[in-house]
Amino acid sequence: MKVKVLGCYGGIAPGQGMTSFLVNDTVALDAGGLSFALPVDKQAMVKDVFISHAHLDHTCCLPFLIDNSFASPGFSLRIYGIHEVVTALSRHLFNGSLWPDFTSIPDDLTPVLKLVTLEPEKAVKVGNLKIRAVPVSHSVPTTGFIVDDGDGSLAFSSDTGPTHHFWDVVNATKNLKAVITESSFPNSEEDLARISGHLTPALLGKELDKLKRDVPVYIYGAKPRFVSRIKKEISALKRKDVTMFVQGRTYTV
Ligand SMILES: [Zn+2]
Repeated sequence: MKVKVLGCYGGIAPGQGMTSFLVNDTVALDAGGLSFALPVDKQAMVKDVFISHAHLDHTCCLPFLIDNSFASPGFSLRIYGIHEVVTALSRHLFNGSLWPDFTSIPDDLTPVLKLVTLEPEKAVKVGNLKIRAVPVSHSVPTTGFIVDDGDGSLAFSSDTGPTHHFWDVVNATKNLKAVITESSFPNSEEDLARISGHLTPALLGKELDKLKRDVPVYIYGAKPRFVSRIKKEISALKRKDVTMFVQGRTYTV
């Protein structure tokens, strides 16, 4: 499986402080930075976007992704998320006020946008991928995703503070190949991290104690002003196979 980093942490344009990963060129996990980081012809190849939660740093490019590709022949986009995510997107974003309601454009029968509600932990099939939403512990309803291409699975926690069930599901995923998780604040800001449902490197270390599988772990999410401190604190964990994602790079997992 090929994972291109479209947005991972701050300080690096484009997509500063935003989150989006592109799987095999056509499926996106979150949409922060997506339309900033991909040329328009590549944006039109994205047909399915899985949204972990409604926060803007994970959703802000959805309007432009649609707008930039709207005139392409046969263009349509499906956006997936749990009930709370889909509700927030239709109520607060595609509401005819902040942005057009593309779920009824050009008409109700053949809209360019479909919002698809996910049942937690029930896999949906997109091409050769099976994708499951797994709840995590953030400040708003949030899920990570397990993406399985038949040969291997990738686990993406999305934004989360200390959590449990996600790691149980990850540990039980037989063909697990890699984990993407976060570290948003430095150790000195642990109170802030806990209140906002994020991890520091120290909290990340405790989360990784729950991971019982020997797979590479990729880190995203460092807030722009803390990137270098977080990098240092993560390397001080002295864990093998823990790597900070690099903006724009493609990883094979
Ligand atoms: Zn968030």
